[in-house]
Amino acid sequence: MVGTFEVDEKIYLEPCPFCGGEAYITGLFIPVNGDEINAYAVGCEKCGISFMEDWIYDNIVKKWNTRIQ
Ligand SMILES: [Zn+2]
Repeated sequence: MVGTFEVDEKIYLEPCPFCGGEAYITGLFIPVNGDEINAYAVGCEKCGISFMEDWIYDNIVKKWNTRIQ
């Protein structure tokens, strides 16, 4: 089961490419071989999309902010 945690870091995220809503970033605990590793997902609260995940916080922020629409 995937758990979540709040990401405290304040970082600028571009608005949602689909609805212009505010983006959020969530931390995920992913179970792997009886252990847990952290990953991150970016999504939009307004339209409910959550389509990007990455192990590295900086990577996912960069992906979201520079994505091709
Ligand atoms: Zn949206």
